[in-house]
Amino acid sequence: MPLDGRETRPEAGEARPEAGAPHVVIVGGGGTGGALAHDLTLRGLRVTLVERGEVTSGTTGRHHGLLHSGARYATTDRAAAIECIAENKILRRICPGSFEENDGLFVAITDEDADYEKGFLESCWQCAVPTRRLEREEALRMEPGLNPELQFAIQVPDATMDAMRVPLRFFATARRNGADIRPFTEAIALTVAGRTVSGVRVRDHASGREYDIGADVVVNAAGPWAGKVAALAGVSVSIVPSPGVMVAVGGRHCNMVVSRLHPPGDGDLVLPQRQRTVLGTSSWLVEDPDDLAAPADHVETMVREGAALVPAVAGAEIRATWSAARPLIGGAGEGAGRNLARALRCFDHATDATPMEGFVTIAGGKATTLRAMAEVTADVVCAKLGRVRRCETAEVVLLPHAAWYSA
Ligand SMILES: Cc1cc2nc3c(=O)[nH]c(=O)nc-3n(C[C@H](O)[C@H](O)[C@H](O)COP(=O)(O)OP(=O)(O)OC[C@H]3O[C@@H](n4cnc5c(N)ncnc54)[C@H](O)[C@@H]3O)c2cc1C
Repeated sequence: MPLDGRETRPEAGEARPEAGAPHVVIVGGGGTGGALAHDLTLRGLRVTLVERGEVTSGTTGRHHGLLHSGARYATTDRAAAIECIAENKILRRICPGSFEENDGLFVAITDEDADYEKGFLESCWQCAVPTRRLEREEALRMEPGLNPELQFAIQVPDATMDAMRVPLRFFATARRNGADIRPFTEAIALTVAGRTVSGVRVRDHASGREYDIGADVVVNAAGPWAGKVAALAGVSVSIVPSPGVMVAVGGRHCNMVVSRLHPPGDGDLVLPQRQRTVLGTSSWLVEDPDDLAAPADHVETMVREGAALVPAVAGAEIRATWSAARPLIGGAGEGAGRNLARALRCFDHATDATPMEGFVTIAGGKATTLRAMAEVTADVVCAKLGRVRRCETAEVVLLPHAAWYSA
């Protein structure tokens, strides 16, 4: 049989940690931690991941389910938009079958929305986000659930995903490749000797046992809790937990991802999830990411603004309301809430004003950019450990999510 080039493609289960390889402990089992465990095992490192609850039980398992094309951020946060469109293409390739490849529509209802078009198209073009303008009739043919008063719509390559299943593919593959993933295991202290972190002390919530895990590098991938985990080492990271409310209503009232053609705002995103429609989201700031609520006025806003895009949601039964906190990175003069960048950032604390060796934090980003967050972090970790290993995660097709459940 002739070779077609695919024979050399790495299989999801090929890598194994090298005996005696450096050991990395990851704190946090959201999408970012799971993708990092996958990346580091492919690079031959020994990996232990500790998660205080079930994997994906933080923000990851509760997000809206939008595989961003980047269009939402193109006018306001170019770096995030460029990251999103690049990762959108990679995730479709490495997670086949995990997305409803339904595209998105940015819909102009008012004259003000229409005025936003020129800047939006220009920004999408600059960020390499493909767009196509649809006249009113074509948009309604494509998505009959839209508000018939719309003026026009812009089609972009958004898609829908299950918030838990995509990250579970990273966890399943990482575990199959040798990563030791420990749910219900909370980091309660970091082992610090002088100015070096050399491990974590954990509590196993199933048995109540506390024990130490040694590490050559500890990575803080605790999402909105990353500020708290950093504080265990006396390190400061300016994480700003920013919750948002989501509302699921009965019935599938649209088949595409529907957004309002304006700068990101409250309740301007409606998307289908199986036989439900999910409306979101809002944005405020909290000190403690466990301090989550779904205020009634936010729920009302979601339904009102969602109905401006897809009118049927106004009469639909509310099936669930919930909130989750974004792990945004803030700092003096950087603004708050929606003004904060969505782009990812990796901190090697050895380069802090008061250096701390052996400790790295990854924060910011989106669920869409989990793989890129892991790549950036794994590059930093490998450089610290003096290892030169190419990142392979953009090519390796992941195990199906169900593999997570079959140990
Ligand atoms: C309302 C809302 C809607 C969103 N919608 C989308 C969307 O549609 N598309 C998209 O791409 N992105 C979306 N996002 C963003 C996305 O959900 C997050 O950026 C992403 O899930 C963050 O993943 P993470 O792994 O960094 O954090 P998390 O998922 O929060 O993971 C961190 C983990 O660390 C654990 N942890 C904390 N402390 C400890 C400790 N001491 N020891 C052990 N474990 C610990 C937590 O339990 C948690 O599981 C949304 C965010 C919000 C808030």
